[in-house]
Amino acid sequence: MKDTYKHKGLRKRLIETLIEKGIEDEKVLQAMLHVPRHLFFEKEFEDFSYEDKAYPIADGQTISQPYTVAAQTSLLETRPGIKVLEIGTGSGYQAAVLAQLKVKLYSVERKKSLHQKAQHLLNELGYQVNLLYGDGSQGWFNHAPYDRILVTAGAPEIPQAFVDQLKPGGLLIIPVGDQENQRMIRAIKQADSSLIMEDHGAFRFVPLIGNDGW
Ligand code: SAM
Repeated sequence: MKDTYKHKGLRKRLIETLIEKGIEDEKVLQAMLHVPRHLFFEKEFEDFSYEDKAYPIADGQTISQPYTVAAQTSLLETRPGIKVLEIGTGSGYQAAVLAQLKVKLYSVERKKSLHQKAQHLLNELGYQVNLLYGDGSQGWFNHAPYDRILVTAGAPEIPQAFVDQLKPGGLLIIPVGDQENQRMIRAIKQADSSLIMEDHGAFRFVPLIGNDGW
């Protein structure tokens, strides 16, 4: 579990690339500068871990492109101590970035092997996060309501559980579309539980599978 000067240098370059691509949120950039992304990679792809690309992890899933992580995390507008629910723990990288931002993180993953691996790695790196193995299309009822919900898999539509489990005034960031292409939606929950929606552009995610997914 080494984080060498070479890794740190590559990470700095990646952050510069993200700035060139328009990411402006200083807190998010600082958090990503600190998280050793290469440790969340499969050994065979580790050399590519500081490229701005998505890569395969186990079980046919992917670790999201750094630009996507930066864009979603910026949209989330976090503050230390707020409660955030992530759907799709995957490698645990996005969870680590959120933990680095000092939110109280809850994250759900439906692939057992990924859940277990992320749990082990995040513990080892000292990140305090709460992980659940299960169908995240139902949210995580026990700890609701959340200030923020971040979905890192593409949904056909917004599951009702996410709306129900979000606090009024809370933000939901979710890619919505077909199984190939989605739009990044930021929904703001109103006092009467209706949503004000913003469209933040085109993205590509693996599908959200589950009762209220595909
Ligand atoms: N956030 C992850 C990371 O930092 O590595 C990347 C997530 S990957 C693009 C999407 C993840 O969502 C996959 O690990 C997939 O198994 C998971 N997923 C898909 N449907 C899900 C569901 N219903 N509940 C929980 N996780 C789900």
